[in-house]
Amino acid sequence: MRMSGTDLRIPRGRAIPPGNRRRRGAVWRRSLGGRFLLLVIAVLVLALVGPASWRYAWDASRVNGELTGKGLRLAAVAARAATATDAELDPTLDVLLADGEVAYVRVVAGDGRVMDRVAGGGDVSRRRRMPDLVHVRHQFGPGLVRVELGLDPRPRLAAAAAEFQGQLLYAGLAMAVIIPLLVLVYYRQVLRPLGLLIAGYRRVARGNLDEPVHIHRRDELGRLAQAFNRMMVRLRRVQRDKDRALAELRELNRHLEARVADRTRRLEELNRDLEHQALHDALTGLPNRTLIQERLQQSVLEAKRHRRNFSVLMMDLDRFKDVNDTLGHDWGDRLLVEVAHRLQALVREADTVGRLGGDEFLVILPEADTEGAVQVARKVLEALEPAFNLEGMQLAVSASIGIASFPEHGFSPSTLLKSADVAMYGAKHAREGWRVYQFDSDRNDRDRLGLMSELREAIRRDALQLVYQPKVSLEGDAVVGLEALVRWPHPRRGMIPPDEFIGLAEQTGVVRPLTAWVLETVGLQIHQWRGLGVDTSVAVNLSVYNLQDAGLIEHVGQVLETYDLHPGQLTLEITESAIMQDPKQAREVLVRLEAMGVRLSIDDFGTGYSSLSYLKRLPVDELKIDRSFVMDMPSNRDDAAIVHSIINLAHNLGVEVIAEGVEDAAVMNLLLMLGCDYVQGYHVSRPLPPGAVPAFMQAVASGSADYLLARASA
Ligand code: C2E
Ligand code: MG
Ligand code: MG
Repeated sequence: MRMSGTDLRIPRGRAIPPGNRRRRGAVWRRSLGGRFLLLVIAVLVLALVGPASWRYAWDASRVNGELTGKGLRLAAVAARAATATDAELDPTLDVLLADGEVAYVRVVAGDGRVMDRVAGGGDVSRRRRMPDLVHVRHQFGPGLVRVELGLDPRPRLAAAAAEFQGQLLYAGLAMAVIIPLLVLVYYRQVLRPLGLLIAGYRRVARGNLDEPVHIHRRDELGRLAQAFNRMMVRLRRVQRDKDRALAELRELNRHLEARVADRTRRLEELNRDLEHQALHDALTGLPNRTLIQERLQQSVLEAKRHRRNFSVLMMDLDRFKDVNDTLGHDWGDRLLVEVAHRLQALVREADTVGRLGGDEFLVILPEADTEGAVQVARKVLEALEPAFNLEGMQLAVSASIGIASFPEHGFSPSTLLKSADVAMYGAKHAREGWRVYQFDSDRNDRDRLGLMSELREAIRRDALQLVYQPKVSLEGDAVVGLEALVRWPHPRRGMIPPDEFIGLAEQTGVVRPLTAWVLETVGLQIHQWRGLGVDTSVAVNLSVYNLQDAGLIEHVGQVLETYDLHPGQLTLEITESAIMQDPKQAREVLVRLEAMGVRLSIDDFGTGYSSLSYLKRLPVDELKIDRSFVMDMPSNRDDAAIVHSIINLAHNLGVEVIAEGVEDAAVMNLLLMLGCDYVQGYHVSRPLPPGAVPAFMQAVASGSADYLLARASA
């Protein structure tokens, strides 16, 4: 790229190429002063020395012409003398030299003779090469005489040279005076103000906008300085505005940050509140079941890692239900809050007190072994001894505490909770009010745990059996359904009745696969009977743990679909006490089952103390009066009265009634009189293997069933 002096733009941040650097080094290029000086010298030289030089050159050229003419003339004289005789030539040459201006003469004759004459003596050859002389050469006639001579112009130029020197001297003197003067003027007028402006620009570049440039003139530089100062004022204003805007921006930013921080803090608080609500019991503010499970899980992990013990206390209040029933829920709630306070005041910071639900509390003691846990349990019971003062009313309560320790009573949160639960149940009958879970004392528990793994295996191998006990209607004598009852033909122990393993299956969680197996088998059985022309409905017994199983409802739906059953062909029996263990949960499950169209029956009714108001809200189709009331009816007037009132109650609620455990005709007749709808019992039929069911149904239909014949003969 070609760059002119003014076009020398060096890109920012890039090094100056060495060539350019050298050029920058030339003073006259970098400075206006240098250039001005050069210009002034050039102009002065041209103006002062030029004409004198021209004049002198002109004089020199004139003298040269004159001397050349004179030389030619003298050469002709010499040539003529040479063609004469030598005697004539010599004096002629002397005369020529005597002229004063002739410096040398050479005559070359036709025969080659050479005659030289030099003024003042010396060498002709040297003179012939002297540039100052005017050299004339002439040949006269071909092959005849050649004359060379040199003429000295100095005498004729002496005056012109002296004049020229004088003029040079004059020019030198004039320049010596004029140049400093001009430079001084130029410096004051141009360079100094320019320097001031440059310094001003540099100050601005450094950010100093406060010092104006002082050039008080009216010319261009003065105007430039004024424009510069105005520009600085504007820049200052812009800078001030910018500073102000920046300050405002900073202030805004601070404000915004403060608001964001405030918003974040509020969100965090809200989050904490929500988290707290999700993990804490609304009534007492204690950790709820979810948080307790979490903490238990943590405690188990830590105890495993550090090979430590820890214990849990599960506590419930004795007869809390009475408080609720007699004083109302508000007072029950107040009592729970007070109990929670006393518990919290008692335990250490590292311990967790939580509410599992209802009147059940759990305490996790992270570093306590069984012994330590017993001490804490005693302290808790002591702390609960003084009566509670609820707005002036004194209320005394007692509690039962079950203790389970890791790892001896359970290796996981769920087994620990189960063990503590079992122990708490035992504590209800213990004088001290607390009990440690006991593995061995729980009637051959090891044995029973072994039994459970065998039960699991039996379920897996499809080795259980179902028998079906008919339910018949008292009016119209028809089989209205069957109840599926499980039997376990054990290879060593023989047939094990359900009462001996259902409870344990519930405690160990095996009841879930068991119920699943029963539902599946029943579904298949109904399907097979249908193939034989027998269409009937079957009741399946559910345990309380099935109500807590999220998969139950889905599984029921699956069975209905797989075996193409009408939902009414399936009845689910839930005992009254199972419902009352967690009425809210039970109601939720029952509502969903009812929505599917499945029939619902409350089993063992009369033993669970459910309230009428509660019953009204349950979507059940059938009440099944517990056999303990039914069997003694003929001899026990109270039982008969209870059965009577249950029948009335059920009918008032629009629910059908079935009596179980009907062992003889007398009871059956009594039930008929009391308006009972259906009966089930040995008198009608013992539980039947599936193969015997079609024949029994046939017998009832044809009136030849034993119980019908017995009634006919009575
Ligand atoms: P439950 O549901 O009340 O069943 C009725 C029980 O009474 C059955 O006993 C039945 O054989 C018996 N029974 C029927 N008629 C009479 C009678 O006239 N007199 C007497 N004394 N007893 C009679 P089982 O089969 O031994 O069942 C006992 C309990 O085991 C059942 O009581 C039920 O709660 C439970 N159970 C049976 N099968 C299952 C099952 O598959 N799942 C669940 N969760 N529990 C079951
Ligand atoms: Mg039943
Ligand atoms: Mg029953």
